[in-house]
Amino acid sequence: MQTHIAPRFQNDPSVTEADAILRSCVHCGFCTATCPTYQILGDELDGPRGRIYLIKEFFAGAPATEHTLEHLDRCLTCRACETTCPSGVRYARLAEIGRAHIEAEVGRSALERLKRRLLRAIVPHPERFRLLVQLGDACKPLLPEALARKVPTLPKPKPRPTAPQATAHPPRRIIALAGCVQSVMTPATGAALEQILGTLGVAADVPTRAGCCGALSLHLGAHGEAHDYMRRNIDAWWPLIEAGAEAILVSASGCGSMVKEYGEALQNDPDYAEKAARVAALARDPSEWLMEHAGEIPFVAADRGTVAFHVPCSLQHAQRLHGGVEMLLQRAGYRLTEVRDSHLCCGSAGTYSILQPVLSQQLLDQKLSALREGEPDCIATANVGCQMHLQNGSETPVRHWLELCAEALAP
Ligand code: SF4
Ligand code: SF4
Repeated sequence: MQTHIAPRFQNDPSVTEADAILRSCVHCGFCTATCPTYQILGDELDGPRGRIYLIKEFFAGAPATEHTLEHLDRCLTCRACETTCPSGVRYARLAEIGRAHIEAEVGRSALERLKRRLLRAIVPHPERFRLLVQLGDACKPLLPEALARKVPTLPKPKPRPTAPQATAHPPRRIIALAGCVQSVMTPATGAALEQILGTLGVAADVPTRAGCCGALSLHLGAHGEAHDYMRRNIDAWWPLIEAGAEAILVSASGCGSMVKEYGEALQNDPDYAEKAARVAALARDPSEWLMEHAGEIPFVAADRGTVAFHVPCSLQHAQRLHGGVEMLLQRAGYRLTEVRDSHLCCGSAGTYSILQPVLSQQLLDQKLSALREGEPDCIATANVGCQMHLQNGSETPVRHWLELCAEALAP
């Protein structure tokens, strides 16, 4: 695609990067067919090609309006378009740059600014987030039923299963990220990972100084804040990396895709660029690491019922991982049901379900109907956001696949 960059952007390195991405797009429109928001709204400007066009016009000097920002805000950043694109267009990076510039030009209403500020002030901080969930839970009887159903409930505290002693020789070090929302809402996921690693004689190091991966702030346009979270995590992990940690396992696939991009995010930071690249290279989804050891995991053979696996966009489109979780679930004794349109987003998408509730609900309804078709005993997924979002509309239990695998281990 030919581009023309307006003089006022010509010295901006992020616009130069956006320009290179714009030029790689041949405007073929293949991506439109797999875009969930285009499928629902049927408007070219609510699909990837239309959004690319809006960003191109803006950087060429066209004025942006609140409608331009609205079309960009409706994007889930699910990256299904990237998987489909034959030209390798890095749409998510382009959208991030475009949205930041257009938001700075158009501005947001006081209410929208407040919502975003509150999300950033609460969600990445586990203690504040826990307090908010407890408060919401206590207020449920006062809320209209439809709203009360959307308020999550904290899980009942359970004794953490004791992970077997690390016995590998020579000792192996694995770092695990507890995360922010996952540590509060689904702590069983981290416990399950530690249990599985323990059966392989490996202990997980979970430094308490590490926390939010930075994705929430980044997606809300607070790039400096996101980079601070990244630097804090790198500082927390670095002594373990220097001591020989072989991988950083991130069991929430949304956070995993973020940590894998630390190198790119901090490439211009002279103090952290090298460390960030090392961290990104060590980051793995647990399914990647466990696949290499699948034959050694002591699953007890049994028929454990049917599971519909919802593949998060962050696993299939951002990390481009396919089939590993499914293979591990099958080895653990679960029968997988067919899931129609598995490439489509469930509508969770970080804070999307809060900021775009109508579209998010439509996508949730579609996803749950596809997941229910095989009448599964359980729905499994790989990301805390999807897990909470799906459970919100489902009577069928929704669990992280690591929990299901841990239940199949020899006692
Ligand atoms: S992003 Fe890729 S698939 Fe979409 S219009 Fe551009 S080149 Fe075609
Ligand atoms: S990231 Fe997802 S919602 Fe956004 S344009 Fe691409 S396919 Fe559509």
